[in-house]
Amino acid sequence: MSRLLIANRGEIAVRVIRSAAARGLSTVAVYSPDDAGALHTQLADEAVQLPGAGVAAYLDPAALVEVARTHKCDALHPGYGLLSESADLASACAAAGIVFVGPAPETLTRLGDKVAARDLAVANGLPVIEGSPVLADVADARSFLDTLGGAPGIFKAVAGGGGRGMRIVQSADEVADAFAQASAEAKSAFGDGSVYMERYLASARHIEVQIVGDGTDVVHLWERDCTLQRRHQKLIEVAPAPALAPKVRQGILDAAVALGKAGGYRGLGTIEFLVDASQPGDTQPFFFIECNPRIQVEHTITEEITGLDLVDVQLRLASGARLDACGVTDLPVPRASAIQLRINTEVMQADGSVRPAGGTLTRFDMASGPGIRVDSHGFAGYATNPQFDSLLAKLIIRRGDQDWPALMRQAHRALGECAISGVDTNQSFLRAMLADSRLADWDVDTRFIEREGASLV
Ligand code: ADP
Repeated sequence: MSRLLIANRGEIAVRVIRSAAARGLSTVAVYSPDDAGALHTQLADEAVQLPGAGVAAYLDPAALVEVARTHKCDALHPGYGLLSESADLASACAAAGIVFVGPAPETLTRLGDKVAARDLAVANGLPVIEGSPVLADVADARSFLDTLGGAPGIFKAVAGGGGRGMRIVQSADEVADAFAQASAEAKSAFGDGSVYMERYLASARHIEVQIVGDGTDVVHLWERDCTLQRRHQKLIEVAPAPALAPKVRQGILDAAVALGKAGGYRGLGTIEFLVDASQPGDTQPFFFIECNPRIQVEHTITEEITGLDLVDVQLRLASGARLDACGVTDLPVPRASAIQLRINTEVMQADGSVRPAGGTLTRFDMASGPGIRVDSHGFAGYATNPQFDSLLAKLIIRRGDQDWPALMRQAHRALGECAISGVDTNQSFLRAMLADSRLADWDVDTRFIEREGASLV
């Protein structure tokens, strides 16, 4: 591999360009006409305009492969979101003799369908939450809800991602509306309105395991806790998971590796689980929820506790390296801790909900100093485009120990040192969260923000 096309935008395009350059690869960025002022176009060695406009321009596999071919790229990195889990893009790359930096097309197909991924997990002995097959109609959904014996259910999109296409139902009379809403949302987000239902865990923690495979062997790079979410979307992530009993942690790590090995996984991936936080300590059951066969937004905190560059690991794996040549084997158990805060361009409403914000950044001075990392495509003068993802910057704080209250204080302080103006962000909301002692004690579940959010605005 010598020349890499980055089929993405925003902070992840910037992130990939940097690691590619460090590996000695030249880089080609792509952009839609209305995204020509974005940072990734300036940092790559070359930038090529895509046909079309807005997000849609980044979603055409044929156009991306054509740019890669005509600009002599021998590899393509899809980033996250957009076409990162597209088996069509991976296949189109293979057909054009271009290395796709990610798992094989068959793996993407198998894991991209949540019901199929669940079946694979069950076949390999992983615990899953009671779930239905794909639901044909409202009657089907009602009869599945009946089997839960009064417990709430959650509709989920088969093609799901980013928390879209989910609706919680408490009782049979809510099923018809929730089914229609979940299915319509899934249809508009993924072009596929199929939904299924799971028992809803009222008090859960989201724990996910970073895995790496070379097609022969699979190792884990420990876990991340992504419990702090708003509308099923992650907002604050920490690694390793605080307040997790060693037995539960080990069970989750073993299950993730077993699933990766069963599929002969090649590439970087994440196996996600929910832990039932209503149960005490080391008896907490955990359940597989999904696999993400790509780099994730929160990969940074795993990098901070392991010292690895995960994009570099992806590039090495894609060029055929075995695990031991990627520096991911025999790592010591991490003694460090890290937290990532997602700074989004959005306006917080008094009731705790948000709406997207746009504008031109007049000031973008991010915190610096020991243990502070910023992954962002922001700069003063950048006109944000509300069409695209609202993530503006990831502020990551690392400590060499696992003193959680000190990490929260450090993060609170760092966030306060960031001066961002011209566009509304969730900066003050994140600060209010970090000042809450329940974060220092990690006394949280996935509904923490829904319950407490309004009082923190
Ligand atoms: P997506 O792919 O859209 O991100 P996930 O399956 O990863 O969807 O779930 C996202 C979040 O939604 C989880 O982290 C959790 O907070 C919530 N969630 C999903 N399934 C359940 C469930 N069965 N019970 C409770 N919460 C759930």
